[in-house]
Amino acid sequence: MGSLTDLENYAQENNIPIIQKPGIEFIKECIKKNHVQNILEIGAAIGYSAIQMALVDEKIHITTIERDYPRYLEAVKNIHSFNLDKRIKIINDDALNIDIEGKFDLIFIDAAKAQYIKFFEKYKHNLTPTGIIISDNLNFHGLTKNPEEIKSKNLRALVRKINKYRDFLENNQEFNTIFYNIGDGIAESHRKGA
Ligand code: SAH
Ligand code: MG
Repeated sequence: MGSLTDLENYAQENNIPIIQKPGIEFIKECIKKNHVQNILEIGAAIGYSAIQMALVDEKIHITTIERDYPRYLEAVKNIHSFNLDKRIKIINDDALNIDIEGKFDLIFIDAAKAQYIKFFEKYKHNLTPTGIIISDNLNFHGLTKNPEEIKSKNLRALVRKINKYRDFLENNQEFNTIFYNIGDGIAESHRKGA
């Protein structure tokens, strides 16, 4: 069986952007506090965050989506080595091209940063009434504060999109959001009145 440290090292060596330590600790606390059992994750990479979340409690079941085939294969291998095949279901597809059935009490959005509004709009129907949507990387290494100073055009466009998502959450009619400067910036959204 591999260890979480092995996965962290593999991610670092292969430039795979897994969630930062304080970020995953925050999510694990949130899972415990809210007795979360069914989780949908958009963006599995090598399965690190899904494995971490599944290890919080034996009752937890996770569906996670990863579009990149090599990463998906690596995730399948890792999930298996932690003996979590029964509790983590991984799908190799683009999350915007498929439909997922069922309701989840936590949805974790951690895929292509430019598409966050689309992921949120598409998957909010899969959220239970009192469910939580967590989004990662909303500070994007601190770049969201001064997007106009970024020299690379592509990076500037991406950072603008992340800021658009922040505005979308701040002005949402349906959901309330709290932003945390934890890890790379995390947002926690709940339905209003829930
Ligand atoms: N949650 C992981 C890290 C995910 S990194 C962890 O913390 O351990 C983001 C991943 O999202 C990348 O592997 C990328 O291939 C995937 N991704 C990006 N856009 C996607 C999409 N539209 N559908 C599915 N996966 C996507
Ligand atoms: Mg992330």
